[in-house]
Amino acid sequence: MQKKQESVVTRFAPSPTGVLHVGSARTALFNFLFARKHGGKFILRMEDTDKKRSKREYDDDILEGLSWLGIAYDTLYRQSERGNIYKKHLEKLVANGYAYISKEESKEEGKRSEVVRFKNPNRKVAFKDIVRGDIEFDTTELGNFVIAKDMETPLYHLAVVVDDLDMGVTHVIRGEDGISNTPRQILIQEALGAPRPLYAHIPLILAPDRSKLSKRHGAVSVVEFREKGYLPEALVNFLALIGWNPGDEREIFTIDELIKEFSLENVQKGGGVFNVGKLDWVNKEHIKKLSADKLKKNIIKHLPDNIKKLDGYNERTMEKIIPIIVEHINRFGEVEEMAERGELGYFFERPEYEKEKIAWKEDSLSDAKRHINKIVGLLQNIEPFTIETVKDAIWDYATEQGRGSVLWPMRYALSGRSKSPDPFTLSAALGKKESIERLEAASRALN
Ligand code: GLU
Repeated sequence: MQKKQESVVTRFAPSPTGVLHVGSARTALFNFLFARKHGGKFILRMEDTDKKRSKREYDDDILEGLSWLGIAYDTLYRQSERGNIYKKHLEKLVANGYAYISKEESKEEGKRSEVVRFKNPNRKVAFKDIVRGDIEFDTTELGNFVIAKDMETPLYHLAVVVDDLDMGVTHVIRGEDGISNTPRQILIQEALGAPRPLYAHIPLILAPDRSKLSKRHGAVSVVEFREKGYLPEALVNFLALIGWNPGDEREIFTIDELIKEFSLENVQKGGGVFNVGKLDWVNKEHIKKLSADKLKKNIIKHLPDNIKKLDGYNERTMEKIIPIIVEHINRFGEVEEMAERGELGYFFERPEYEKEKIAWKEDSLSDAKRHINKIVGLLQNIEPFTIETVKDAIWDYATEQGRGSVLWPMRYALSGRSKSPDPFTLSAALGKKESIERLEAASRALN
């Protein structure tokens, strides 16, 4: 008969000694997805016992990053607040002969003259890793390792084991760099009479050159990706796909869909590559799913102030150019780049014209003027004024006169730029009145 599975408890246990790295965020995500999928509990545990290197600002950054990604924990612990619990277990280990206080020669004068060492039973430790299969270590070479600096100051391995026991952790899902820590932790567990959690060591995230992903490869912190204008649901989706797949070809998931699909059995052994091009694609897919309102909010958030301050700036025109913007971006930070390249400002302020640029190729300035005046006439009576109706009104004339000869001056008059979207799209975005006024201004410039 199958034993009923006890309720799942997972934990993400970052050390707040740096900002939230995307690799850590993915570890958090896998723990979160697994707990949610099984109706279990997901714990966030700040491993902040290293007083020198742990900083409140990093603790804040981790909380902020997880919250932005939508990775919600059920309970938050900080190891720095749990000294008594570690002490109690340390005392028990010493009392039962599993650990001993060792007087040591201090390397530095007056320092660390006493440590607590674990009495290593010197034997083989085997465990079954859900991702990597059977793993066996001979612990002999580890010697009688140190588990606390003194009775008040536990070190990493002891704190992890005591916490996992005390918090009822059933599944330890962590980066594969945690594998070599596991035998020591299992020895301590056994000495404490603690149940052994199941282990799943997930592959590292690699840079495209298959080295360990680090700062020199570009952005690595979650907050940096927020600033670049990636959507949190897209970053979550992308991170889930590094080292995991649903077992078929699907790639675009909401976080709720990931909860449904996730399984540790589908996590692969080999390292997964962090490919920014793929992230951009995933992000674009999620942009396409946004409601009009969310799309607008995200774009406006990334629109530089100098654009918002232009006299002609208004939300109506802004709404009309959203499809133009979306076509050109994969992430919202690119809105700033478009603005810097001058691709947005002209929608909200009248362009200046360079006379010679108004006419198409070999056409004369008077040809250009004639076409522009004709276009003004054709636009007068269009109702409603949309991309299609403008195109319908101009197309036959342009075909008859030569498309370049008509459409180039029209487009240049509307944008003042050699490169811009097509003149129908521009007209519809600017509206009838503004389009006609710009065309008339260009016509005057040709006098
Ligand atoms: N605090 C450890 C780290 O940041 C992780 C501990 C664990 O997951 O067991 O690397």
